[in-house]
Amino acid sequence: MRQIAIYGKGGIGKSTTMQNTVAALTELGKHILVVGCDPKADSTRLLLHGLAQKTVLDTLREEGEDVELDIIIKEGFGGVRCVESGGPEPGVGCAGRGIITAINLLESLGAYTEDLDFIFYDVLGDVVCGGFAMPIREGKAREIYIVASGEMMALYAANNICKGIKKFASGGARLGGIICNSRKVNNELELLTAFAGKLGSQLVQFIPRDNVVQRAEINKKTVIDYDPREKQAEVYRDLANNILGNEKFVVPNPLQEEELESLLMEFGLVGV
Ligand code: ADP
Ligand code: MG
Repeated sequence: MRQIAIYGKGGIGKSTTMQNTVAALTELGKHILVVGCDPKADSTRLLLHGLAQKTVLDTLREEGEDVELDIIIKEGFGGVRCVESGGPEPGVGCAGRGIITAINLLESLGAYTEDLDFIFYDVLGDVVCGGFAMPIREGKAREIYIVASGEMMALYAANNICKGIKKFASGGARLGGIICNSRKVNNELELLTAFAGKLGSQLVQFIPRDNVVQRAEINKKTVIDYDPREKQAEVYRDLANNILGNEKFVVPNPLQEEELESLLMEFGLVGV
């Protein structure tokens, strides 16, 4: 069983990319559990054709400790098991802790069954709150992918996440690679390839920006579910295959701020 965490700046496309990749993995017959670790609880919306689910934390609050697995796990596209950990009441408590409460409950109720090939954690991006490092700090997910783009803030966040991975490397956390979810920045492929290389890692996939993602989203579906013949569906299949065959897991070398800035200058100004 491979436990994979997806990190990246808020709004960069973590949930969309993860669900499409998971959908592609189900086409290959893989058994998957998705654990949404964002208080927004929208990590599984496309797989479930809507926000069909009560979060683990809401369930605990409303029903006490006596929770049944089938209340918090719902089956979605391709048989994917979907869980949303949810969050504390706004302004009260630490959402990161909530994530661990949710994961521990899932484990103790026997959700991590032998037949699972993958568990994906979709984690809220910015590591300002130490709590969000929980899935990697506690040694749950050791394989991490970061979704980024050529935009400065996305790269800045990705670099910060690498600092977090390095910090928790002794617990087994490794970077599997960078996923570029394109924002149509100049020389984005070259920039992200160079960025991943400097980290000692790799670019696992370049995902073009394509409006079919929105069309599918409005229909509460992944692209693979909405129209499996779309070119974009093929991109997500490529990413799924690259993750399946990945053998490069590293402790990343985060860049110094000046290094990151000069990388942006070098690629951002080419051909302008
Ligand atoms: P995150 O989970 O990182 O906060 P989301 O996955 O919710 O981000 O994505 C934010 C928005 O970007 C969504 O509305 C989604 O449809 C859109 N999006 C993500 N990836 C793409 C893409 N490759 N092409 C077009 N739109 C995209
Ligand atoms: Mg999300």
